[in-house]
Amino acid sequence: MRIDRFFINAPIEGGRVHIADDNLFHQWKHVFRYQVGTQTIIFNGDGYEYTAVIEELGNREATCAILQKKKALLPEKDLWLFMSLIKKDKFELTIQKSTELGVNHIVPLETEFSNERRIDIKRFQKILTEASEQCGRGNVPVLHDIMSFTDALSFVSEENITPYIAHQGGEEGIVNAPIKTALFIGPEGGFSPDELHICKEKAYGTLSLGQFILRAETAAIVGLSKLI
Ligand code: SAH
Repeated sequence: MRIDRFFINAPIEGGRVHIADDNLFHQWKHVFRYQVGTQTIIFNGDGYEYTAVIEELGNREATCAILQKKKALLPEKDLWLFMSLIKKDKFELTIQKSTELGVNHIVPLETEFSNERRIDIKRFQKILTEASEQCGRGNVPVLHDIMSFTDALSFVSEENITPYIAHQGGEEGIVNAPIKTALFIGPEGGFSPDELHICKEKAYGTLSLGQFILRAETAAIVGLSKLI
């Protein structure tokens, strides 16, 4: 039988966990209809995952006892996705798939040709959490604040992250990506000539994902699969 996994935003210590998160409690009691004695798997990004059994299930809170602790599966690389803001449903698809592919950080990117400006942090966070629970990884990607293209380039250079700028007609097709790698994906209108010029000046590699023009969300998924 498959046991569902849940992310807990709290320390897991001392053999017992108290669940006071309304959403999680609601899922357990009313969606999954858990009862005292039901076993589940919980993780909180501390590098482990825990088999837990429900000991108490009240009206708003639950308590579980930890039965087993084992090393969690974590992404092997520290992958960053700098994803241009695109339509909300496409952005959501991208972050869900990126989580499955092992991205550790997602940075919404504002570029010269971006025409979307809004992000729904709460909803995006929920998508990241659910995708992590479903795919078996032991941590949830970090969702960062929106960054401008120029700030993002300075950021990767300060943090020693190797960036690849996805661009149709880019120089590189096959990449041997280092541990700390970032993929930059442009908006519907692509990166501007100025932005591409800055990348060239900084000697940042442009990554080709084939001869055709991909949608930004397709490019993100294919691009990440080359870097993992
Ligand atoms: N009209 C734009 C296309 C943008 S597609 C243009 O002509 O450039 C959105 C983003 O997806 C691009 O900015 C790029 O980052 C990525 N992308 C799309 N197709 C690609 C390809 N064949 N190779 C690499 N990146 C690609």
